[in-house]
Amino acid sequence: MLDEANICSYNWRDDWDRDTAGKRLHGLGATMTVEECLAFLATQGRDTVLAKIVDLLQLVHGMDKSGMVPQQHGNALIALGRVRDLSGLEMSEHAAELNKSEACVDWGSVSTQDWIRHQCHQPSGAAADLLHVGEQFANLPKTIGALRDGSIGFAHAAIIARHAQAITHSDSAEPFDEAPFLKAALESSVSRLWYYSMHAWHRADPDGVADEQREAAARRYLRLTDGDDGTLYVKGEFDSAAGATIRTALEPLAQPHGDGDDRGREHRNADALVELAGHCLDTAAVPQHGSVRPHVQVTTTLETLQGLIGAPAGEMALSLPISAKTVQRIACDSSVTRVLLGTDSAVVDAGRAKRVVSGGSRRLLDARDKHCRWPGCERPASWSSAHHVIHWAQGGKTDLSNMILLCQHHHWMVHEGGWRLSLAADARVIAVPPETDFYPPEFYPSARAPDEFDVA
Ligand SMILES: [Zn+2]
Ligand SMILES: [Zn+2]
Repeated sequence: MLDEANICSYNWRDDWDRDTAGKRLHGLGATMTVEECLAFLATQGRDTVLAKIVDLLQLVHGMDKSGMVPQQHGNALIALGRVRDLSGLEMSEHAAELNKSEACVDWGSVSTQDWIRHQCHQPSGAAADLLHVGEQFANLPKTIGALRDGSIGFAHAAIIARHAQAITHSDSAEPFDEAPFLKAALESSVSRLWYYSMHAWHRADPDGVADEQREAAARRYLRLTDGDDGTLYVKGEFDSAAGATIRTALEPLAQPHGDGDDRGREHRNADALVELAGHCLDTAAVPQHGSVRPHVQVTTTLETLQGLIGAPAGEMALSLPISAKTVQRIACDSSVTRVLLGTDSAVVDAGRAKRVVSGGSRRLLDARDKHCRWPGCERPASWSSAHHVIHWAQGGKTDLSNMILLCQHHHWMVHEGGWRLSLAADARVIAVPPETDFYPPEFYPSARAPDEFDVA
């Protein structure tokens, strides 16, 4: 049995049997206090001590956790956090020393950081943090002291060290002073420390900050990759200010809107990006490309537009073939160029000549509805499309009695999402969920009447 009060009885016999300082220690028969164990370990080599630390952690890992109360779990987490922070500190000194040699390159790695990343199972950033702290050791006596006594964590020290590194290596900076950084670390969380450190760094070295941000902007990229099935995959990196511009534009569009909006955050972000792009195209906010203004072009047959069985899929530039429902949505508002092909692929209707919601009736529609008519949605008219309740391809009229404003998301819900909209006799809009899904009656978005307007 392991005895927590007498950890020395665990697997330490090999060491006990060694003759140390003239005193022979005996195996399980002899007992030592924890203090005596530590005093004994202090006489051993570094490798032995480190191996025992690992053994001790294994010992802790093997202890029964059942029956522990939350307070005990919390205490254990705090204590293990200290273990992690102090090992980080210790690792950083070794890392910096190792980095003074070419050993890691001789061992086949491209750099010390890469060797640490691989051998110590660390992400690149964590390996770099070890090197930064280790290399700035002499510049950070108070920070290291605070880390040793537990008033800050290793992650705090790593942020300070990164800034110390930038400032000490800058030609334009004042001499590095750790005091303002440490003060911020003692008062803030790790994530807030980045914020305060940026200010302290800027005070010490504005040109250095500008250089760093210029380099971050130069690293911007956005990779758009087509999957075999036509899916677009997006990956990218933006500097902080550019990221803020993107977030500021997407944030309001990515809020849940309308009754029954159960999309997750990332789904709403993606929809917001599509909405932003669509709006820029609809409002001609994108500069002319060559001699034409960029717009979404769909090529389809009348049969597809009418949703007839056996009709071919529609075609859209930069996309694989699209379903009739998507064709119908895009053609619904007619703010796109239509190229209708007859059965012999002859173009029978090109451009915006017909069934376009004219400027005058669109203004009346905007004035009547003011915003998306989906129950609970208030996306403004300028961000909405004119939806034909009965599609014009099926004989629906392009006049106010057959049109309502719908934002991009709700327009999609109606055409592709399987929802149906009904106009009640009193002109209220009722959204009816797809029959395939189970929606309890209370989930039905409540009807919304148009704003005060004399419907023509
Ligand atoms: Zn529509
Ligand atoms: Zn809406």
